[in-house]
Amino acid sequence: MRFHIITIFPEIFDSYLNESILGRAIKNKLIEVKFYNPRDFIKAPKNNYRPVDDKPYGGGPGMVMRAEPTLKAVAKAISKISSANRTVARHDFAKSKIILFSPSGKKFDTAYAKNSAKKFTDIVLISGRYEGIDARVQKIFKAEEISIGDYVLTGGELPAMVLIDSISRQIKGVLGKYESLEEERISSSKVYTRPEILKYKNKNYKVPKVLLSGNHKLIEEWKKSR
Ligand code: SAH
Repeated sequence: MRFHIITIFPEIFDSYLNESILGRAIKNKLIEVKFYNPRDFIKAPKNNYRPVDDKPYGGGPGMVMRAEPTLKAVAKAISKISSANRTVARHDFAKSKIILFSPSGKKFDTAYAKNSAKKFTDIVLISGRYEGIDARVQKIFKAEEISIGDYVLTGGELPAMVLIDSISRQIKGVLGKYESLEEERISSSKVYTRPEILKYKNKNYKVPKVLLSGNHKLIEEWKKSR
């Protein structure tokens, strides 16, 4: 799976993608993350510098990301998709997807992550900043607008990381053998590890007895009930 990120702040991703499970997945070439910075697509001859953002038509607060630099960055990503797949027989763009982040988009969830991991070889993720990206970018690429929740963030970089993280863990081999086995089993949001009795401020906090019982049937039932 290749993720193509369109962002004016690519450095934001560095530490998160280099650690732990995602870091390992990248090293093992199970996933690949490429960056395309709209700023790199701004022609800036002397005295003709144009910033990546501009004032909104119709007025209002904040700035809007201009369409052209983003269009060029997305076009570059698309060109990489087709060239990356030249060796793959019968590849078509049905195996790739363009997503544009928006707080009012379709809500992202695990089902979406699972489906994406199964269906696509390439996903282009367009992260906005300021008041968002000129709406014509979404229209031109027929990008799917995706939201990661009912709140407004300052940019689409966290949403991009959320998608990369949750889609990647659905790809075979990304979670370790042990972890993927755990995935297959019933997992619980209440988990415990040693010590069996935790002392904190003169109080004892115990691990639920059932988890120490060795009775797998009871344990599974307990987990399901959580
Ligand atoms: N004026 C916009 C908000 C822009 S927030 C509006 O009212 O819709 C700036 C950027 O952050 C957006 O372009 C989007 O890329 C990203 N973003 C903010 N909140 C988000 C969310 N909940 N889900 C996905 N992307 C979000």
